Amino acid sequence: METMAGRRILALGTHPDDVELTCGASIARWVRDGDTAILVVATDGSRGGKDVDSDPRETARIRRNEQMEAAEIIGFEDVVFLGLRDGEVEDIPELRALLVEQIRRFRPEVAIAMDPLTVIHRNSYVNHRDHRILGMAFLDALYPEASNAAYFPEQLARGLEVHKCPELLLSATESPNYWVDVSETLETRFTALRCHASQIQLWLENGEVLIEEQRERAASVGAAQGMGYAEEFRRVIADQLS
Ligand SMILES: [Zn+2]
Repeated sequence: METMAGRRILALGTHPDDVELTCGASIARWVRDGDTAILVVATDGSRGGKDVDSDPRETARIRRNEQMEAAEIIGFEDVVFLGLRDGEVEDIPELRALLVEQIRRFRPEVAIAMDPLTVIHRNSYVNHRDHRILGMAFLDALYPEASNAAYFPEQLARGLEVHKCPELLLSATESPNYWVDVSETLETRFTALRCHASQIQLWLENGEVLIEEQRERAASVGAAQGMGYAEEFRRVIADQLS
């Protein structure tokens, strides 16, 4: 994978900040190596204010700006906001149509999302409902819907064409089988993560405790693979039945 520059990568983030919390260092590395990446952010993050007094529309506006800033640091060429309401993602045909449309529009060679099979992550994190539901919808949007003209034919009438993405990488997975050396770009991810000021201010020591934990985790994942810092994925290469 590292030898094939010039790929098109579509990363799906459920909320503004998910890519910066999970797999952004790999994407930063691949963009540096010559790939082109876009970020699709599904929800507006409007519940990220947490307390009862915060205005959801204002929270969404702030988080959109934070995501734009963070995406530029990672090196995304474009950011698409689907604008779903935070906390209310449902796996319905209308959602899959939105996802299929992005797949058919950008035509990625690599798609990245959080692993929807993760319900409890590393016995410490109950995976957010939006992550699980969006991830499952994305799997269906990729295989088979985007590549089958019988799904959402109105998109084809508008000029889009079917597309089968050959490779899928799932982050925040309990079943990793693929590791990426991010020794040169892990700090880029943390710089991008710090753009999410409205979120990190809610975390211990303005997010620095979490960043240190993630740095240690990347070091131990990397050490087990003979790398420096690493991010891990479940990698799926689509076969002809997908
Ligand atoms: Zn999230």
